[in-house]
Amino acid sequence: MMQHYLEVKEQHKDCVVFYRLGDFYEMFFEDAKRVSEMLDLTLTGRDCGLAERAPMCGIPFHAADGYIQKLVSLGEKVAICEQLTEPNGKELVRRDVVKIVTAGTLDNETLIDEKTNNFICSVYLNAENCACAWADITTGEFFARSFSGDKYFLELTDLLVRIDPAEIIATVQASDIFNKIPLIIHGVLPKFSAYTESEFSYSNAKQTLLKHFNVLSLASFGIENDKNVISASGSLIAYLYETQKHALSNINSITLENSKDLMMLDINAIRNLELVKTNRDGKRYGSLLWVLDKTKTSMGARKLQSWILSPLCNKEQIEYRLNGVESLFNNALVRQGLVNTLTGVRDIGRISGKISNGNLMPRDCLALANSLEVLPNITFQLLGTNAKIINDICDKIKDFSDIVKLINSAISEDCPPTMKDGGYIKKGYSAELDELKDLRDNSRGIIATIEKRERERTGVKTLKVGYNKVFGYYIELTNSVKDQAPYDYIRKQTLVGSERYITEELKQLEEKVITAEEKSLRLESEIFKGIKEKLFARLDDLLDTADAVSDLDVLLSFAVVAKENNFCRPSINEGSALNITGGRHPVVEKMGQFVPNDCTLDGGENRMMIITGPNMAGKSTYMRQVALITLMAHIGCFVPASKADIPLTDKIFTRIGASDNLISDQSTFMVEMTEIATILANATKDSLIVLDEIGRGTSTFDGLSIAWAIVEYVTDVIKAKTMFATHYHELTELEGRLEGVKNYKVTVKEYNGSIVFLRKIMRGGANRSFGIEVSCLAGIRKEVTDRAKEILRSLEKSDITVRKDDKQEEREYSEIEEIIKETDINNISPMQAFAILQDLKEKLEK
Ligand code: ADP
Ligand code: MG
Repeated sequence: MMQHYLEVKEQHKDCVVFYRLGDFYEMFFEDAKRVSEMLDLTLTGRDCGLAERAPMCGIPFHAADGYIQKLVSLGEKVAICEQLTEPNGKELVRRDVVKIVTAGTLDNETLIDEKTNNFICSVYLNAENCACAWADITTGEFFARSFSGDKYFLELTDLLVRIDPAEIIATVQASDIFNKIPLIIHGVLPKFSAYTESEFSYSNAKQTLLKHFNVLSLASFGIENDKNVISASGSLIAYLYETQKHALSNINSITLENSKDLMMLDINAIRNLELVKTNRDGKRYGSLLWVLDKTKTSMGARKLQSWILSPLCNKEQIEYRLNGVESLFNNALVRQGLVNTLTGVRDIGRISGKISNGNLMPRDCLALANSLEVLPNITFQLLGTNAKIINDICDKIKDFSDIVKLINSAISEDCPPTMKDGGYIKKGYSAELDELKDLRDNSRGIIATIEKRERERTGVKTLKVGYNKVFGYYIELTNSVKDQAPYDYIRKQTLVGSERYITEELKQLEEKVITAEEKSLRLESEIFKGIKEKLFARLDDLLDTADAVSDLDVLLSFAVVAKENNFCRPSINEGSALNITGGRHPVVEKMGQFVPNDCTLDGGENRMMIITGPNMAGKSTYMRQVALITLMAHIGCFVPASKADIPLTDKIFTRIGASDNLISDQSTFMVEMTEIATILANATKDSLIVLDEIGRGTSTFDGLSIAWAIVEYVTDVIKAKTMFATHYHELTELEGRLEGVKNYKVTVKEYNGSIVFLRKIMRGGANRSFGIEVSCLAGIRKEVTDRAKEILRSLEKSDITVRKDDKQEEREYSEIEEIIKETDINNISPMQAFAILQDLKEKLEK
């Protein structure tokens, strides 16, 4: 056995091997030493034919899930080596690895979040281009994307951040390159793990794909000409076969993402706009996703997240969705009806995954039948709506009445969670099964009758008829009465205090009952296998339906949210004018009273907004709300405004606040400048740029100069629509000097030495910072703020920050300065100098 273990370990060097021994998974040698420490297990030893005992540790098989999850989350892979034959005491039990569990291939629902995809990625990197393929084996979703041009590396990392994969594989060489980038060092992305080089080769990868999809050409997927995409997706499929050990039939197609169709979001936009989680605590609560998620199914929730992170860039596609939302928005009856109906729909996507991947349980069938049963009701309710997307959804929802009927007649409503004890096939479904079960169940009655009869016959009241796995049925007599055993009792087993016997009658009963029990278990499992085959035959239909229902769920969620929050349908234009009337921040408005604001931006006169105003006035909120409204329009969602006309936008750039240094080793200022460099290099006239307080991390003049130069460059050269909030009031001087720049301020009212925030954005520049007033509001002691006001007054008097060169000429000198200026030090004696000095000192002391 240890020899076999070592062979298995040799083949799975990069995995922790869970070696099944009876009721335990055991680990040996190095695995045991490492894992016992990681999981806090007791390290023991086992004789293994070597001089020293083999280090060993183990976990009970029924508790394996939790341990596997821990190991996987620590970046380990776990090879599960199971017993394939029953131990019979004669020959060695046959064992083999049945599955390799890795972070990106978890398919146990208790280990993964139902509302997010669990993606695994394969990256193929060349000298000047690359491709990425990613899949979720629980849902069968499979995508690929190709990158070329001088920004391919950056675009790839943006994509990886968006996908947020649990695992990434690549060639050794590519892994080495990637594992040095800050995103990975700082744990934003998982470390790349190296996979067999040859699986990435074009010809192998192509063969893998052709075989997997069972096609002669990849043309129908639109990837036949992209060698990198083929390498990435083929290697991914190969890896999945190797780890899962079965064909992934739910991966039945590959979707090629096109950069022209989607707006690329980078890590800054995703984080700064808090699209799917907040920056503060990484929770959904408080994010855009949180506001928009009124989905009723977990497949809908997953779809929503993917829509938010991949906004569309195509007017037709956006309006296709908007039309769907609008038709649901306008029909309260349908909306309410669908909300009710969809509430009863379970995760058809992941149940389909289980059908494909072989871990379907009887209870999943019930959930599936309950979900499929309501589909006709959904399509019926949608009859009244006329948007194309809704019609397309209805077309994709298939008829499963036969499946529903099959499951409802075959699977018992109160079936147990596991299959090992049977009991999941409904009474009445199979006459043969019912007969076997009758026999099995009646045996209890028969035993009771025999027991009663034998007690009477022998006169022994303590006579017992029992059952044990090894010896079968027996009659037990305690030692004190064993002499009373009748002649037909055959002695079978001697215990300390009693004797056990069998009889011819018991032997026959045993035959029947045991075989009935075994047969019924086998028959149940066979019936279930038949059902699984029938479901498997409808896998593609099920996947289509899951996709359609999740689309519908998201559209419905958009409609419900729009109604509840008073959103409006945005119009999308292919020009450059952005006009928002009464815009609101979708998240902040949920927290209390909100003051709506307008926004006008275009490619001409109004392309750069310089926004000034005190701290806490609402500058950042305003800019984010414009960015969020733009993004929401691009995912086909209604927006928090009374009216919005949004131009197609190729990318949203954000540089907001003092960055936490999480993803980089650089200083805050360096981070800021790097981010700005990226924006300047990538933004186009069709981009939307949000710049919040840039140039803060250095001295005032430095910062101001940098900010100034950036505004000039963005306005003159890039011509992107830009919002720039700044505390440098000097920048307001750019309006009039630079075409396209307009000043805005967020208004406050001064009142009794304090200020009131009006939250209203208006044309014009703020002339003061009100920092001290804001600090009063924050509760800083009055002595301190009064003193600050005093210092401010004297600073303003001496004007230390105002441009010195300009003022030199007109400056008035004090008497003392006048004296010093007039003194010609080349023409005075030491005595005279002393006199002058004494005079100055006296003057000063006066
Ligand atoms: P600034 O960037 O100017 O310092 P913020 O945008 O961070 O200010 O806003 C400060 C706070 O003011 C926000 O947390 C929010 O609660 C509130 N706020 C901002 N804008 C509005 C608004 N339009 N209506 C109501 N409250 C707002
Ligand atoms: Mg701010």
